[in-house]
Amino acid sequence: MVLGIHHVTAISGDPQQNVDFYVGVLGLRLVKQTVNFDDPTVYHLYYGDGIGRPGTLMTTFPYGHILPGKRGRGETASITFEVPVGSLDYWATRLRIEVKASGEETIFGKRVVWAHDPDGLRIELEEVETPTNFTLWPDSAVPAEYAIRSIRRVSLMPVRGRSIGEFETTEAALSGMFSFTQIGEEGSRKRFQAGVSEVDVIEAPEEPLARNSAGTVHHIAFRNKDNEVHEKWLLDLNRSGFHTSPIMERDYFRSIYFREPGGVLFEFATDQPGMMKDESEEHLGEALQLPQMHAHRKAHLESVLPKLRIPGVTQ
Ligand code: ZN
Repeated sequence: MVLGIHHVTAISGDPQQNVDFYVGVLGLRLVKQTVNFDDPTVYHLYYGDGIGRPGTLMTTFPYGHILPGKRGRGETASITFEVPVGSLDYWATRLRIEVKASGEETIFGKRVVWAHDPDGLRIELEEVETPTNFTLWPDSAVPAEYAIRSIRRVSLMPVRGRSIGEFETTEAALSGMFSFTQIGEEGSRKRFQAGVSEVDVIEAPEEPLARNSAGTVHHIAFRNKDNEVHEKWLLDLNRSGFHTSPIMERDYFRSIYFREPGGVLFEFATDQPGMMKDESEEHLGEALQLPQMHAHRKAHLESVLPKLRIPGVTQ
């Protein structure tokens, strides 16, 4: 079974605006500045807790000038972070002041505070009583008692009518293939759980088909312990009719990519070696780190990638 969410990766616009929101407003730590493997002139930014633990990681490809995407079916509708009990009033006020679009909603009987990131991606915050493991970043703009802890949930809006092997829906794949348990249903929303993470599946036939560009999620990654588990999954997924990538070296983890029946791109990522592979905890995310395959282009890439100002970090 999968251990829960490893990271979520979104497509974004301006890199500095991206840092200003995820670090300056949400108070996450920028734990890695690296580049997109396929286009190294584009950053790949990782945000997370103080040590970049799997499960806390939100990552972005900030392309700069890029068309806005469209939220809809075949995509992720929102990402929900967990915050400590008693912190939502603080967040509601902070987000009202700091971002253009924010608000509140009740979902499954719980208060959820939401905001759009600078590219329109919906971020939600929800109080959770039993927190998952996380390490505080002491230089965060957000006081410790309100700090975001980890990604609790992703909400998917699947496309219907495309089966993979015996799995006719996202729900069937979540429970039949990935050992998620359905824990609730409310209106058009079903909630599934695996480990400490949840996936909501929203039925939204009136929504348009999503267009993947700025402000939308590129993929959702789930945790696998190690490469041995990956190899078993690779066989199982292919036997069950999923079209997968091979196991790919991503420097901070190894990955397998595939689409689920609802059209959303999933990834399996290993916990190891993790974000502290090439930087100490003290200086995590402060300097550009290049994948081995692009290391020889360091001087060129440093000259084309805009220098980032990181709130809370003296540079
Ligand atoms: Zn990924």
